[in-house]
Amino acid sequence: MIIGAGLAGWTTAREFRKLDSSTPLTLVTADSGDFYAKPSLSNAFAQGKLPAQLVNTPAAKMAETLKLTLLPLTRVTAIHPSTKTVDTSAGVMGYRDLVLATGAQPIALPLSGNAAHQVISVNSLEDFAQLHARLKPSASPADNRRKHVLIMGAGLIGCEFANDLAQAGYCVSAVDPSARALAALLPDCASAALQVALERLGVRFFLGNTVRSVDFAAPDPDGQQPMEVTLAGGERIVASCVLSAIGLRPDVSLAKAAGLVVERGIAVDWRLQTSAPHIYALGDGAQYASATSTLSAHGATLPYVMPIMAAARALAANLTGTATRLVFPLMPVSVKTPALPLVVAAPQPGSPGNWAVAKTETGDDEAGIWHWTDAAGLKRGFVLAGAQTAQRQQQSKQLTP
Ligand code: FAD
Repeated sequence: MIIGAGLAGWTTAREFRKLDSSTPLTLVTADSGDFYAKPSLSNAFAQGKLPAQLVNTPAAKMAETLKLTLLPLTRVTAIHPSTKTVDTSAGVMGYRDLVLATGAQPIALPLSGNAAHQVISVNSLEDFAQLHARLKPSASPADNRRKHVLIMGAGLIGCEFANDLAQAGYCVSAVDPSARALAALLPDCASAALQVALERLGVRFFLGNTVRSVDFAAPDPDGQQPMEVTLAGGERIVASCVLSAIGLRPDVSLAKAAGLVVERGIAVDWRLQTSAPHIYALGDGAQYASATSTLSAHGATLPYVMPIMAAARALAANLTGTATRLVFPLMPVSVKTPALPLVVAAPQPGSPGNWAVAKTETGDDEAGIWHWTDAAGLKRGFVLAGAQTAQRQQQSKQLTP
């Protein structure tokens, strides 16, 4: 049984069926189960896509193709490892093996103000539909320009939405406590280049700043109810919509209540097994074992597509009886900011080392390429910007594993 119909749940089902076409498979999910690519949520406005157009394959078709029993709109409320059963909104069900692919939840900041509850986060197709309904995009960027979106967070998702919404014509502001854009992933110069590229599109940055409160403002002449956002620095910004992109937290609630080991995420070993036999986890909710640990300390959460693909393959092999150790390949992340496309292969946060601009054979600076070298002087990460993103394969080969 798989819980969750995000990329992790569906990819596990697909990989499992490649190896085993007959064992009964059940997928239980709180949402509709429709298959969509979550990364497309942060570049859909500029392409004028409607929420329904982002569905790649309807849930029923997925279930038919993968020969599984799908329980959509069904929430798992408790796991009982001792009896190998789960409680769901549709009753109690048994399992042979259980896969937790329950993802992560947006972090909600405690904001003050009478419109704080209007702040939207986008981590699902339903969330995107809500944002879409709020912004009512027009085919004409000039119409969209009258609407102001304030984005909390200038990290990966915040910058991608800033680019997408600005490209679709909206006025966009981005507020972040860091001194620079995408500070967690990029060296200073690359951050600055991204900020300049987004500012050219019209994005206004309020860096080193945070949102303090969100209140309803007086209705505008169109009858819309805008919000007044007050920043810690005292600035007041009127916005049609406030989008929070401050990050996600693995959803460990079910696992924790069932007595499984959880830290930042649901701790799994190299075979994707949790601390309970026959219960596995992967995806945004999981905390993967690290080189120095098996189940817990120092493991990493990896909320990206590529780790899910690798984890689902290894998990399917383990579920079908071939003991398989999860090995992550190098997993560069593409930042979908067409104003300045980026590819980032960053070290784990806190790893000792330094970023420096790459050098050409003649010792000159190589524009648009930065390398990260560890304390021993080994090249272990890179950032590629603009046209240099074409060097992804070549740069990947040059890294010390
Ligand atoms: P989710 O997609 O969150 O799925 C969780 C599933 O579990 C859902 O179906 C939910 O309904 C179900 N569920 C939860 N609790 C229960 C319960 N109790 N009972 C039943 N069902 C339950 N990554 C990249 O690598 N590149 C990108 O460009 C990129 N862009 C992104 C853009 C955006 C806007 C976002 C939000 C993320 C992006 N990511 C990107 C990250 C990537 O999309 C995620 O890592 C991935 O989609 C997570 O999949 P998941 O299956 O682990 O979780």
